[in-house]
Amino acid sequence: MAKRDYYEILGVPRNASQEEIKRAYRRLAMKYHPDRNPGDKEAEEKFKEITEAYEVLSDPEKRARYDQFGHAGVSGQTTTQHMNIEDIFRHFSDIFGDMDFGDPFDVFFGGRTTTRRRRRQRWHSRRGEDIRIKVSVSLEDIATGTTKRVRIKKFVPCNVCHGTGLKPGTTQQTCPTCRGTGYVRQVKHTVFGVLQTTTTCPTCGGTGRIIEPCSACGGEGRVRGEEVVTIEVPAGAREGTAIEVQGKGHAGVRGGPPGNLIVEIVEEPHPIFIRDGNNVVMELWLSYPEAVLGTTVEVPTLTGKARVKIPPGTSSGEILRLKNKGLPSLEGYEKGDQLIIVQIYAPSKDKLSSDTRQQIEKLAANSEIKPVNRTGVVSSLFAKLKDLYNVLRRRKSEEY
Ligand SMILES: [Zn+2]
Ligand SMILES: [Zn+2]
Repeated sequence: MAKRDYYEILGVPRNASQEEIKRAYRRLAMKYHPDRNPGDKEAEEKFKEITEAYEVLSDPEKRARYDQFGHAGVSGQTTTQHMNIEDIFRHFSDIFGDMDFGDPFDVFFGGRTTTRRRRRQRWHSRRGEDIRIKVSVSLEDIATGTTKRVRIKKFVPCNVCHGTGLKPGTTQQTCPTCRGTGYVRQVKHTVFGVLQTTTTCPTCGGTGRIIEPCSACGGEGRVRGEEVVTIEVPAGAREGTAIEVQGKGHAGVRGGPPGNLIVEIVEEPHPIFIRDGNNVVMELWLSYPEAVLGTTVEVPTLTGKARVKIPPGTSSGEILRLKNKGLPSLEGYEKGDQLIIVQIYAPSKDKLSSDTRQQIEKLAANSEIKPVNRTGVVSSLFAKLKDLYNVLRRRKSEEY
């Protein structure tokens, strides 16, 4: 459809002053205002058309381009044609704001619809808000899955009005002033002629109903309270895993459905293990003879103790693996392992008796116990574990 001439749309001559253009737009904006033509699509289109014309003609630069090149000169330059009505009012707040109408006008333009909507909602039921909490769990809990009972402060249904918000024994009545519509019409005589304005009903405050609120909850249908909620923590949960407990958030307003409780898992630092994916890693200290001769030691696991055979000739930095002693995965894949990094303990010199020291000095002279290679390449797994250790150390130093 060919676009109409902007000057024609606003009904102004081509040499109209900015003041004339502004006045013409105001007059037409009133006439085609959507609130005065409820449900009238044609009026809404007209309103957008005059707004687009005004956007171009009120901007000297756009107007000059339009005068020279017509619609092609401002093609793609107008923004109001893509806006909804409320945005248009906000966009041209200078126009609608400086009109000297006082209160009813503010109410009429833009403000009223939202005010009425908000006030009305005061007596509607509404879903309760979600509650977000963090729950910390140990690696042992994560290994097996667990249930946690948590006391949560929240809105609970008012048991005086049973969540309705109404004073017991009363019912909602339709407002006699506005007959339930929530607004009243007034006729005003203004400089632009007779203007019919719509304002919020003073009797019911726009709700359309006369209500006696429950005194226990002030009409909210809910009061502050608390509830103990049982949370199922699945095996294999991780730091940041979110668990949604349906219906355990805040109670709804006036009988609305409750919100949800959203639990975020926080992993407690473990005194022995650090987690690497589904594996857990620990350090095991051996004496030099244990490492050379081999031994069996008892080590902790996430599900009890285990005996580990240390083969003869185990060097520091070697990694022993306990299959399936790590964590299960949330997705149900196979379990991780427990990795044991062997470390050889060297007592400080001043802790040794002279007798022990003499024995070790004798050993030192023995070439059989010297390392075959003094230098070597760090294995990638060990390097990775070193990184993990640094994380752990940092975490510990932050704690203290
Ligand atoms: Zn109540
Ligand atoms: Zn009313």
